[in-house]
Amino acid sequence: MHEPAIPSLTGADPEVARLVQAEARRQFEKVRLIASENYVSTAVLEATGSVLTNKYSEGYAGRRYYEGQQVVDPVEELAIGRAKALFGADHANVQPYSGSPANLAVYMAFLDPGDAVMGMALPAGGHLTHGWGVSATGKWFRSVQYGVRKETGVVDLDQVRDLARAERPKVIFCGGTAIPRTIDFPAFAEIANEVGAVLAADIAHIAGLIAGGAHPSPVGHAQVITTTTHKTLRGPRGAMILTDAAHAKAIDKAVFPGLQGGPHNHTTAAIAVALGEALDPSFGLYAHAVVQNARSLAAALLDRGFDLVSGGTDNHLILVDVTGKGVGGKPAAKALDRAGIEANYNTVPFDPRKPFDPSGVRLGTAAITTRGLTPDHMPQIAEWIERAILAAQDEQALDRIAAEVADLMAGYPMPGWA
Ligand SMILES: *Cc1c(COP(=O)(O)O)cnc(C)c1O
Repeated sequence: MHEPAIPSLTGADPEVARLVQAEARRQFEKVRLIASENYVSTAVLEATGSVLTNKYSEGYAGRRYYEGQQVVDPVEELAIGRAKALFGADHANVQPYSGSPANLAVYMAFLDPGDAVMGMALPAGGHLTHGWGVSATGKWFRSVQYGVRKETGVVDLDQVRDLARAERPKVIFCGGTAIPRTIDFPAFAEIANEVGAVLAADIAHIAGLIAGGAHPSPVGHAQVITTTTHKTLRGPRGAMILTDAAHAKAIDKAVFPGLQGGPHNHTTAAIAVALGEALDPSFGLYAHAVVQNARSLAAALLDRGFDLVSGGTDNHLILVDVTGKGVGGKPAAKALDRAGIEANYNTVPFDPRKPFDPSGVRLGTAAITTRGLTPDHMPQIAEWIERAILAAQDEQALDRIAAEVADLMAGYPMPGWA
């Protein structure tokens, strides 16, 4: 049963309630390896479901355009204070609705349409909002894209430097969605400083690892840091922007009134709760355990002959080229899902296949670590992954794996399920 219980919803709208219960059960029974997902605590769920959703509060604490902010102001100030303390940043804006709007705020703050922006190309591991062509950020700005080295699968800093010198971008983004290796923030900062660009570190994927001391921090290197709050940071869906003192005002103006109206106060409260959890010393153990699990899973996959982009991982994320097993990324992801192992198909750098059926599958260990799985479980998960991919056409074999997976996960409690 969903936890907190949902008796009012069940009474008022059994159709939606049934779907919520089905999703909770699905999350309980599966090995969830989608690298951007996690399980939030019951406390975060309760804050997200609170009456704070009823309140409008355009503006910032002490400077709102609506009355009745006696409670919302301290909620937002609590979230800001905790964000600053957790990351050691001068300033935090906790209002962006999600990671993509947070990145748009960086454009709004520091670029005019047509100005040059530099980011990692999507097929190399960057995000749509770092200037990829189909995104507004690629259509309305002059986007310059860097990639990874073919031999190593690791970001090509020589290319970053050469492009920055030639194109003089006003903003350089580092970070991405499918980068299995440590991001060298000081190296990016040196390049950005040389060309007079604002360095924006998008730490959406690794924010929890940074908070827990399992990945170096961009604070002191990047003037602006954007992040979602719902990936390794294990909060509600939302986002934050951290800045140094000099860039605070521009970012606040860009978020509101530049891009958004009223902040989602129930989300702000849940972000405060998640940041409180991340400030507890136990969160550092979690972050390190996520990385340990990813290393162990990568080693177990290598033992089974899988081809990993960059040869392994430094963080929570593994990018597997599955074509060596005789199958494309999409059928592999579909077979895995049927086998109770949830992942997403993903391009690999220099992918010869099309984006809707690329060569790769992306895996992450943030969610299964929250469930309590340890390095000892990773050889079993790698065995299931290989078995499912080799049996991609055999639905009975996939269902047998799903039963084994559900059997394992039944022993590991899920926040949100009683
Ligand atoms: C997830 C992600 C985003 C976008 O977040 P949404 O909340 O999905 O809009 C932006 N940048 C990076 C690097 C991400 O991984």
